Amino acid sequence: MKIDVLTLFPEMFAGVLGSSILKKAQEKEAVSYNVTNFREFADNKHNTVDDYPYGGGAGMVLKPQPIFDAVDALKKEAGSKEPRVVLLCPQGERFSQKKAEELSQEEHLIFICGHYEGYDERIRTHVVTDEISIGDYVLTGGELGAMVVIDSVVRLLPGVLGNEESPIKDSFSTGLLEHPHYTRPADFRGIKVPDILLSGNHARIEEWRTKESLRRTLTRRPDLLENYPLSEKEKIWLEEVKKD
Ligand code: SAM
Repeated sequence: MKIDVLTLFPEMFAGVLGSSILKKAQEKEAVSYNVTNFREFADNKHNTVDDYPYGGGAGMVLKPQPIFDAVDALKKEAGSKEPRVVLLCPQGERFSQKKAEELSQEEHLIFICGHYEGYDERIRTHVVTDEISIGDYVLTGGELGAMVVIDSVVRLLPGVLGNEESPIKDSFSTGLLEHPHYTRPADFRGIKVPDILLSGNHARIEEWRTKESLRRTLTRRPDLLENYPLSEKEKIWLEEVKKD
């Protein structure tokens, strides 16, 4: 996968893309990152990328020209099939694991990070394929949002996580929240690991994990159960959990 980022603050990405699993993913050639300052594409003497809003009012608006030209150049350079062009904005579709899975199937993603009051609407209507919000709050810029989306997409790419870190059982991937985890010691300050996890009985451990996953989802995110296709066994276990 090729990931392009258009931003006015490329330095913000160095730490995140250059550390841990996102860094290893690039070393393994599962992904290549390219962060571009779209000010380089401004076609005016002072490299201005924003301007006052038509009709007046507070704040500055990102001009269409630098973004249109930057996206054209990135598309031309990649030469592959049409990329997904993702605009980070609080008005976009709320980001989810399902969306991360969808984006992880693409060959080329371009992220546009805004700043200031907003974008010229023609960027939305003529350049962008997806608008994503990372939550119902307002950030100063799209950079943190782009990093969140990139992190969740890259970890899904084949070969990026080892088997032991497989994302298949993660919260949301299954449709439920994940069960609790424990590691050694079995008794820490008198707080004990559930006996079942020490039993060596894999079938019973799997049953416990599914029940705990159902319990956690029921107590923390009951909305997720509305769309989750419960198996016959899970229906019985959910009733048991409700009685506890
Ligand atoms: N005036 C805009 C509005 O009310 O929708 C908010 C602009 S915000 C101050 C500046 C930039 O931060 C946005 O253009 C967007 O790129 C980014 N941003 C802010 N909140 C975000 C969120 N929840 N998700 C993704 N990006 C966000």
